[in-house]
Amino acid sequence: MSFSAPLSPLRHGALLALMLLLSACQPSPTQTRIQGNTMGTYFVVTITDTYPGGKPALQKEVNALLARMNKEISTYDPDSLISRFNLGPANAPTLIPATMAKIVQQGIDAGHLTGGKLDVTVGPLVNLWGFGPDKRPVKRPSPEQIVRARERVGIDKLDLLPQGDHFLLTKRIADLYLDLSTLGEGAASDEIAALLERKGVDNYLIEVAGAVRSKGHNSQGNPWRVAIVEPSGKPGTIEDVVTPNGMGLSTAGSYLNYYELDGRRYSHIIDPATGEPVTHKLVSASVITQTTLEADALDTALMVMGPEQAMSFARRHHLAVYLIVKTEQGFEARYTPEFAPYLSAKPQTGATKPVS
Ligand code: FAD
Repeated sequence: MSFSAPLSPLRHGALLALMLLLSACQPSPTQTRIQGNTMGTYFVVTITDTYPGGKPALQKEVNALLARMNKEISTYDPDSLISRFNLGPANAPTLIPATMAKIVQQGIDAGHLTGGKLDVTVGPLVNLWGFGPDKRPVKRPSPEQIVRARERVGIDKLDLLPQGDHFLLTKRIADLYLDLSTLGEGAASDEIAALLERKGVDNYLIEVAGAVRSKGHNSQGNPWRVAIVEPSGKPGTIEDVVTPNGMGLSTAGSYLNYYELDGRRYSHIIDPATGEPVTHKLVSASVITQTTLEADALDTALMVMGPEQAMSFARRHHLAVYLIVKTEQGFEARYTPEFAPYLSAKPQTGATKPVS
């Protein structure tokens, strides 16, 4: 077995270093693989069934799906639906498609579940700290700037209501800024999975950066396996190997997407309660749930919580969660009993610690 990771020159290669696709490394005659860039990062889709129209049709249809998603939820496209919503006035309902509403609803639900640790209106703070489409700050934002940005944040300022086949999205303040960046990759994995299944494909591995969906088996007839790598920066250092078996797996990390300013390190995970990037020792959180969208919402919330609160939240909600925590000695993996069944034999030893 060989280990390799797709390399991306893009800024949000942060999570690709966390996931090494194991079984899908060597394309075989019975395997089709497509890849590309989307959402500021990369995607790879590998199937071991026949796709109607073959590889060109698969590439074209996945590209079209991702382009449509970008037109709906990209805050990096000034002409997308979400950008027009963000620029629009208060109390003027915007008609959005069910595909986008599902992502917004997941953001709202996860916001309630996590006590506001995940907040899809956190965009003003993300931008203030230089992790959104706006430029990176040359100095630390002032307390006044943080207070002003925080006044614009809160899912209670957002309403989503069904309207026939569509939904109506309304903001209660004009300068609310909806940011679905944290959910986009998970949503894309799920949507690609749904496309494949509509086309009769039952054996696939989908990776949109840190959001992975798999079903069935690889070209050797084995379940797909995914590696979580140690965040040490050493290439290929595997912390553990996971077999998601039809579930959604998503990983968020704080250790690659960051910058240093005045001797301090600022990560892209923002705590909505303080308005500042998190500073604790939790460096990565992986979650397995039914959908990658849900896993993608929860991994960010856990990253906001920090190691102890994240583990107690995961245990309270019986979630399959795997955390990597920075310690004096290096890195320590801690996982819930619900995560244990997904762990496979790993090709090297390392310090992993189940938390029961
Ligand atoms: P995750 O942990 O999944 O998410 C972290 C991100 O979520 C942060 O970067 C911030 O945006 C947001 N966030 C931080 N704290 C919180 C919180 N408490 N609650 C909720 N959200 C929080 N990037 C580019 O550079 N160029 C592009 O062209 C581009 N296009 C994109 C198009 C789409 C449709 C989407 C969805 C994203 C795009 N991005 C782009 C953004 C980039 O891909 C995101 O930064 C990335 O999706 C963040 O995901 P992650 O896996 O790195 O981290």
